[in-house]
Amino acid sequence: MSSLLVQQRSTAAPTSSIRLASARRLIVKIGSALIGDAETGEIRGPWLETLIEDVVRFFARGQQVILVTSGAVAVGSSHFNHLDRSLRVEEKKTAAAMGQVQIMCAYERSFRRHGFGVGQILLTREDIDDQHRRLNAASTLHQLLKVGAVPIINENDTTATAEICFGDNDRLAARVAQLVNADVVVLLSNVDGLFSENPHDNPAARLVTQVRCITPEIEAMAGHSLARHSSGGMVTKLMAARIATDAGCEMIIARGDKSYPLAAIENGGPSTWFFPPL
Ligand code: GLU
Repeated sequence: MSSLLVQQRSTAAPTSSIRLASARRLIVKIGSALIGDAETGEIRGPWLETLIEDVVRFFARGQQVILVTSGAVAVGSSHFNHLDRSLRVEEKKTAAAMGQVQIMCAYERSFRRHGFGVGQILLTREDIDDQHRRLNAASTLHQLLKVGAVPIINENDTTATAEICFGDNDRLAARVAQLVNADVVVLLSNVDGLFSENPHDNPAARLVTQVRCITPEIEAMAGHSLARHSSGGMVTKLMAARIATDAGCEMIIARGDKSYPLAAIENGGPSTWFFPPL
């Protein structure tokens, strides 16, 4: 049997809806291009409010949600006059230090309006690779969930040198899923999902709706294009899918830039679902 299904949007709605609604614990990753306006770096407040309403709806169903958010560099970059050049590494770290405060303030304000507190956790790959630090992070995540606060995670861009050049929150989200035994990782991005070919080059490219095994054929579909502020492309999303599915967790890639992005997936909007091996 083929390892992938393409363009089955007509049957996607009920399945997506049931699958998302039955997940006990979800990780939702928010890409930089969603939270920060590409031109001004301003936080997209009205959009963020719709995401938070989606998350609060999941809480009302008894589901737990952990957010992994990018955007610190994208939002903090507005403090630099850099439109004609890329920021240097030390400038990116400074942008991240400033932007992280701004995005956390926005999340905190939005969740507070719905009666929820938030807790910030900044991690590096070393934190997750080291057993003691990993257990400390896991314990804090569990405590935050226990007290009903929303854990909001980002990479610690100030201390993670390699991260700021190549790192991505796609793999971080998958590692967090592994850490807390999540059922589903949702990568909200600025693409509909995985396409058979680059849709910018070939309008006939088809959206792959389900992946049951990450074969070389699937890997070949991942393009290498990167958005200006984000570090992850389809390649890192596939790496994340491998980590998540090996840990028994499903993973979704979906476009998140429109209002109510989680409801859009539940309503059968375009997405690619990765399933753990049988
Ligand atoms: N940690 C980076 C930030 O907050 C983003 C990394 C990524 O794009 O995945 O700006």
